[in-house]
Amino acid sequence: MKTYRIAAIPGDGIGTEVVAAGVEVLQALARREGRFAFQVDHFDWGSDYYKRHGRMMPADGREQIRHHDAIMFGSAGAPDVPDHITLWGLRLAICQPFDQYANVRPTRVLPGIVSPLRGVAGPELDWVIVRENSEGEYAGVGGRVHQGSPLEAATDVAMHTRKGVERIMRFAFGLARSRPRKLLTVVTKSNAQRHGMVMWDEIAVEIAAEFPDVTWDKMLVDAMTMRMVMRPQSIDTVVATNLHADILSDLAAALAGSLGIAPTANLNPERAFPSMFEPIHGSAFDIMGKGIANPIGTFWSAVMLLDHLGEPAAGQRLMRAIERVTADKRFHTPDLGGSARTVDVTAAVIRAIEVGNA
Ligand code: NAD
Ligand code: MN
Repeated sequence: MKTYRIAAIPGDGIGTEVVAAGVEVLQALARREGRFAFQVDHFDWGSDYYKRHGRMMPADGREQIRHHDAIMFGSAGAPDVPDHITLWGLRLAICQPFDQYANVRPTRVLPGIVSPLRGVAGPELDWVIVRENSEGEYAGVGGRVHQGSPLEAATDVAMHTRKGVERIMRFAFGLARSRPRKLLTVVTKSNAQRHGMVMWDEIAVEIAAEFPDVTWDKMLVDAMTMRMVMRPQSIDTVVATNLHADILSDLAAALAGSLGIAPTANLNPERAFPSMFEPIHGSAFDIMGKGIANPIGTFWSAVMLLDHLGEPAAGQRLMRAIERVTADKRFHTPDLGGSARTVDVTAAVIRAIEVGNA
């Protein structure tokens, strides 16, 4: 029997709660499928590790997970450690060296969940946002001088490379082509940012020529927020920069009912390195330790993990189980207006996996 090696990095806050739930669900799924097993190795990296060792993960951390088939990640961020240390010390310290340049973020209004957009449900909101995940505004280029003086100055330089933009554009066109509507929206801000964003627009035109069967349009990012709210049906696949897609995908998650539902995959499409799957939310300081975190975003990320491993049938089984559970309001956590706890939702999904007929 095939055994997949998964590196579980729960990290901080509710990351620990939802990753534990996600691992339970994956193990239940493997038992139900009977064709493969998961060997899950846990890594206690994160802010507690930082407080003990002065770094978020060990120096050879990446070597330890380099040969796993996939990474399941929770969140990095604690109330008493600066966010730029936790983010750069763990999440970006994995994403960037492992060249997980394609960040894929599906959004749908799942059964039983109410979008804050009046009258929008089901197929009217079915998007995938592709976020450039290796450079752009989060390239880490910049500096800070004259600290403590009135002359203090700071820069964050957005760095867009032709190679980086071409590969994310090609990935997004390919993903759009694989979906029924074959429809892509390229989001930039090329009116105000007249160098990098103009290059994005030009590269979009070039790559579009390789995908004559994909219909595409382009949109400025500010106008895109309005289109997402006013005409959600007009959108299918979206590609945008690291920063723009970061913001748009939080909006997308909220429009689908809750940040707690939204999944993401950090993919190295060439599979030279493991890819990483995580809910898009963070540590949620306001609810951590209370046992009420919504684990659906992590479960949906596990579906993406299964797809990436080449187990789409198992992924579909898990997605059906998730949808059966969201359809039942008894299993809604407080972020969805219910009173279920993380363990209730997890048990319900496992039950749905076990009894699921298909
Ligand atoms: P957050 O996602 O942690 O929380 C935003 C709001 O959404 C909170 O009210 C929270 O309770 C709610 N929420 C989020 N996930 C939920 C879930 N699964 N179930 C129910 N409610 C949920 O964002 P934030 O408050 O901006 O950030 C908190 C910390 O997390 C910061 O340190 C930040 O840097 C970190 N963070 C990490 C990641 C990551 O590692 N990928 C992503 C985002 C934020
Ligand atoms: Mn974000």
